[in-house]
Amino acid sequence: MPAPRTDIETFKISSNETPFEPPDSVRRAIEQAAATVHRYPDPFSRRLTGALARRFDVNQEQISLGTGSVAVVGQLIWAAAGAGDSVVYPWRSFEAYPIWVQMTGARSVQVPLLADERHDLPSMLKAIDDSTRIVFVCNPNNPTGEAVRRDELTEFIDAVPSDVIVVLDEAYREFISDTDVPDGLDFFHERNNVVVIRTFSKAYGLAGLRVGFAIAPEPIAEGMRKTALPFGVSSIAEDAALAALECEDELFERVRHLSEERDRVWQAFADQGWDIHPSHANFVWLRLGERTQEFAQACDEVGITIRTFPDEGVRISVAEEEANDRVIDVGKSLA
Ligand SMILES: *Cc1c(COP(=O)(O)O)cnc(C)c1O
Repeated sequence: MPAPRTDIETFKISSNETPFEPPDSVRRAIEQAAATVHRYPDPFSRRLTGALARRFDVNQEQISLGTGSVAVVGQLIWAAAGAGDSVVYPWRSFEAYPIWVQMTGARSVQVPLLADERHDLPSMLKAIDDSTRIVFVCNPNNPTGEAVRRDELTEFIDAVPSDVIVVLDEAYREFISDTDVPDGLDFFHERNNVVVIRTFSKAYGLAGLRVGFAIAPEPIAEGMRKTALPFGVSSIAEDAALAALECEDELFERVRHLSEERDRVWQAFADQGWDIHPSHANFVWLRLGERTQEFAQACDEVGITIRTFPDEGVRISVAEEEANDRVIDVGKSLA
């Protein structure tokens, strides 16, 4: 690994963070919360739970918070699966799934993505058997950015046995502009085995504070609250998340901008002749195979850090226009 460049501005676009600093109101809420950090947080995060219930028109009992949705995923797996059980999910997908499944002693059943990077829902259905407790749909998928459409998801959920929990991991929900990609909450409202997982880390810009949540049928949400780390969501995180909910207009304007930038980046790669599929999140994915390292190296040389999956591909977060421009230039130089 060459030393990072110090002679030009560098950009870290490897973790799908927002490039924007918190809005003033969120920063003020964080500063004010600093005055009370000698006290434990509310173990039930009642104010945030109430605000989320109002925001999404669900009961408070249907919400389970956690220290980032990584933790929320863990809470669900701990609550619903263990030794002798299996958990089905697409692969490649979010790296937290195999880690948590292994920790609980359950068995991972990974179903390869289709050639166009989408979930292979028919094969995922076939992978479900009597031992299956949970099936994950990562929509849009990290790291490939592709999304499951409404009709195929409806058909899938209809066919999943009602005692298997369907998790819709929607960490990037706010970045979706294609109306054919469904809102997981529509399915949550119609079934009693659908769990929707969201986060404050991406569109809401609070990755450093660790807060995410699930909207789940009451018995499932109750189980998830029981497996949560006690006092996990800090008072600063709770206040910041509340402030972020209060300035959604401002935050979603940024999301719109980033979504347009995402489309600009992938269109540029497509025009350059790369094999790329549309992304519905705040990153793009290039399946580069053995050219992965070469591409990452070229990015490094212009001060850009991207996420590499060795011999598989690169995931490039959409960020400042300058960073996006440099990535497009790298694509041009290697096309
Ligand atoms: C980023 C991401 C999350 C969110 O992680 P946090 O723990 O909330 O920061 C969840 N799921 C997927 C698929 C992600 O890419």
